[in-house]
Order: sequence, then C-alpha cells, then structure tokens
Amino acid sequence: MIVDGHNDLVARIWRGDEIRHVQLDEAARADFAGGFFALFVPSPMPPDPTSDIYALPLPEPIPREEAARVADELYDVFRSLPVRLATSPDDFQAGRVAAILHLEGAEPLSADLSDLDAWYARGLRSLGLVWSRANAFAEGVPFRFRSTPDTGPGLTAAGRELVRRCNSLGVLVDLSHLNEAGFWDVARLSSFPLVATHSNAHSLCPSSRNLTDAQLDAIGASGGVVGVNFAVAFVREDGGQVAATPLEEIVRHIAYVADRIGIDHVAFGSDFDGALVPEALGGIAGLPQLVGALRVGGFDDEAVAKVTHRNWLRVLRDTWS
Ligand code: ZN
Repeated sequence: MIVDGHNDLVARIWRGDEIRHVQLDEAARADFAGGFFALFVPSPMPPDPTSDIYALPLPEPIPREEAARVADELYDVFRSLPVRLATSPDDFQAGRVAAILHLEGAEPLSADLSDLDAWYARGLRSLGLVWSRANAFAEGVPFRFRSTPDTGPGLTAAGRELVRRCNSLGVLVDLSHLNEAGFWDVARLSSFPLVATHSNAHSLCPSSRNLTDAQLDAIGASGGVVGVNFAVAFVREDGGQVAATPLEEIVRHIAYVADRIGIDHVAFGSDFDGALVPEALGGIAGLPQLVGALRVGGFDDEAVAKVTHRNWLRVLRDTWS
C-alpha cells in the first residue's frame, strides 16, 4: 500500500489541464491508497526553472479575498473526486483511495483565523503556512538553485497564532515551501512531529526548496517525516529539468534521509501533477517500479512498508488524535 505526501491533481483539474500523473483509475493496480491532496491557489507566473542555474523572483502575494474565492472552487473540485475524505489514519486501506484535504499556502484564511473552524469542518487536516511566496502568516522560499532555504523573515504574529490553533485542532502543519527562519519558528512553537510533505535533502541537491542537514535532524528528533519529492529539479545534483532522470536518483534521497535520521522518518512526497518527475516513473502507475528500485537499493520488506505508508500513518495518528 502506498500513501503519498503531496499531489496537485485538484489544481490541474481546476485549470482544465490534462492529468499527467494521478490517474485514479490506475490506483488499484499500483497499490496507491492516496495521501495528501493539495488545494493550491496558483500565482499568475508558475515556476518554470528551465536552466541548470536559476533564480526566480518571489511571486506577488495573492489578496485574501481572491485566494478564498479560488480555494472554494478548488474545494468543489476536491469533493468531486472519486475518493474518500481522510480524517483518520484508518481511512487508508488497500484497494481504495483516501484523500487528506491539504491547504498549500494559508492565503484563503483570514489573518484573524475566524474561518479556520469552518475549514476544519470541511475536512481540512493539513496545511502549509505558505507556498513559495509571502502571505499574512509567513514567507516561502523563492525557487532558487543554488541557494540555502534561508531567504527571508520568519513567522508573523498571525502565523504563530495559526500554528497554535492547528496544534489545538489537530491539523498537521507542513514545512515544505517555508523559508528557514519560518521553519525554526514552527519547530520552536509546535508540539507535533515536524513534517515536510514534499522536500528533499539539500546536501544532495542545493535547491532553496530542500532541507539542510540541521532541518532534517530536527524533523527526525521530533518523530516527524520527510516526504521525498520526485520533482527532478529538487532531486538532481545539477537542479536540471531533465525528464530522463533515473529513479535511482529518488532512491538516493530516500537513502540519505534514512541514513541520517532513521528509516522511521522518510516517506514519499511525489509532487505528482505539480512538477516534472522522471519519465521512467510516469505517474502513479509507475510507483511499483519505484518500490522495485528501493528493493534493489537494499530496502527490505519492513523498510519498504515504512517508506510507502507506515511512517505517514504514524505521523497522522500522532497529529490527528
Ligand atoms: Zn509544492
């Protein structure tokens, strides 16, 4: 059974774009049981790193009213999917697909958090304070290669309050896209295991979107999880947008995180339908090949079970209960 940390299927359907990776009719054959389904309010200019060395500007903030309107439309798309809404780890079972309602960037929330309870009632169980831009709560990293994630200021007062409220509600706080100052603010504030749903090892690929060894160590020490991102730009040591990237490059990040902070703290965070992934993988139909590459890389049955689903389910249990 495979539980995954991030996909952008909802935004792709909302835009009217062709589905590239999350072909739900392939789920049963690929043993894909779902995972985090993002509601992502796009910026006008999508990130498109096309050279080996890139430095994209931080997109403009999105006004809250506009973000809330788009998020409502995204939510309607989410609810139209043939999946079960996941609010308990037990919702994930082999043979069906369950979806965690995840807000990728808290722009749709008002800064006084007066609408957070309504989102919780809709089923929201995970949110990233930011995508790669600034908002009322924090600031995300711009897409840069070579760059550390230390690119801007930490959480605002509203951002700190949002983390506290998520802790009291049992909503997972995702660290992917957050800059380093914000990461450490959440690490200090949050009482939950730290989670980055779709980020990689900065030591292997020095993108601003990836996690330094110190960040990995903090996630491990908290009992959390790193969902390894399949996007080639965050996998390859040259940061290139190269479709011919072998699956072993993804395995390299999984092995690095496992070696550094333990096999209990690494999982999948595909970024399916939100990024260019290795053509050898395609979409969810190729997941069994990635599992095969893990086995060739020395991961035994227990390690494979942890990476493919057990680690995600443990963190959900720790966070949602
Ligand atoms: Zn993302």
